[in-house]
Amino acid sequence: MTIQSLEPDKYNSIVLFTGAGMSAESGVPTYRGAGGIWSRYNWEEVACETAFRADPAGVLEFHDHRRKLLEPCRPHAGHAVIAGLEKRHPSVAVITQNIDGLHQQAGSERVIELHGSLWRVRCTDEGRIIDLQRDGEWPRKCDCGAWLRPDITWFGDQLNHAVMRQADEIIRGCDLFIAVGTSGVVWPAAGFPQLAKSGGALCVEINTEDNEMSGLYDTRLRGPAGEVLPELLK
Ligand SMILES: [Zn+2]
Repeated sequence: MTIQSLEPDKYNSIVLFTGAGMSAESGVPTYRGAGGIWSRYNWEEVACETAFRADPAGVLEFHDHRRKLLEPCRPHAGHAVIAGLEKRHPSVAVITQNIDGLHQQAGSERVIELHGSLWRVRCTDEGRIIDLQRDGEWPRKCDCGAWLRPDITWFGDQLNHAVMRQADEIIRGCDLFIAVGTSGVVWPAAGFPQLAKSGGALCVEINTEDNEMSGLYDTRLRGPAGEVLPELLK
């Protein structure tokens, strides 16, 4: 497939909305489907508030394991081209469903993480946030003595309202919206392309295959993000 560059300089405000497919190309284990994390683990035992209350150490061990699975994963050419665009364009934002920190690792600075990050923990008592280093210690207790939980959205958790508001505002104001590797069927992400369109944005979808939401996009490009993005954002 030959892909015409969108000439990003013609747009005032660009949003890249990325999902599991973006990370999968870096080797990050996916969640659903065969071989996905939730085919091997029961989320009710490892990824919800109830499980954490019953067995905090066990749940934290699972999340340490998830961080270790990220060790060999590196950003790919798609992450790199987004980070590069941010350096030369006045307004580029990444809004991501991923919790692996790959966009930041590639050099992106304006990253809105809808579901939090595995690289942060939060004091269950004070709400204090602590950044984790990839090769550092991953503490389980805060200085105050309370457990530190991963700062991610577990099953049954509310989405962070401030983060959602920020995402909404940026999407409403953009004139180019590019969704990458997201099935887009999970709410509130499902509403993003329409929100972008309501503000008059051109909506582009990059994915390996069609999904239920594909019809909402003005342009649909089929292929790996690591190949399509460098052509598209040239
Ligand atoms: Zn604390």
